[in-house]
Amino acid sequence: MISKVTINDGCISCGLCEQICPEVFEMADVAKVRAGVDFSQHEDKIKEATESCPVTVIIFE
Ligand code: SF4
Repeated sequence: MISKVTINDGCISCGLCEQICPEVFEMADVAKVRAGVDFSQHEDKIKEATESCPVTVIIFE
């Protein structure tokens, strides 16, 4: 079960993670993880976003 999602330094603001899973990711200057989200409801899309990130800065645990 995913309990934590982090975006490390290095995001290039491509917007992919937000496109794939807007319930969890939102774009500001760089991508951010929304507060108060139940990650367990979005696990497949979090994994897809993590795999799709071109600079592999999304981490989940
Ligand atoms: S997919 Fe990766 S590089 Fe693109 S906005 Fe999300 S965190 Fe940033």
